[in-house]
Amino acid sequence: MNRRLQKFLFMKFPIFLSHLDYPGNIECDNGWYKIIKEVCIVGEHYDSIHSNKVVACYIGEKFGILFMYTDRSITSIDETIEKATIESLHTCSHCGESGELRDLGTWRKTLCNKCLKRR
Ligand SMILES: [Zn+2]
Repeated sequence: MNRRLQKFLFMKFPIFLSHLDYPGNIECDNGWYKIIKEVCIVGEHYDSIHSNKVVACYIGEKFGILFMYTDRSITSIDETIEKATIESLHTCSHCGESGELRDLGTWRKTLCNKCLKRR
């Protein structure tokens, strides 16, 4: 994810993202920015009302799918992450338009038709 978008997330969600390093620790393309932001909103809200914080340990793309891990399991956050993972399977990781998981020979990526052609 580019520096500008990452900077915005780190500024907006300082507790939930406190265990990740800026920049570079959100290891996916820009298209999933909105999906990640939705999870961060839920995570940061949880942290603002509970003394026992939960933080993101990993945010990135694996096998063409968005993966997010936290330091501990919280049902509401786990469910939000699960929804985000499913949403990433239908969202182009490059541009955020609707896309699908593509087999690109040695690796997989979720892309829309336009971004697939542009490769
Ligand atoms: Zn696209």
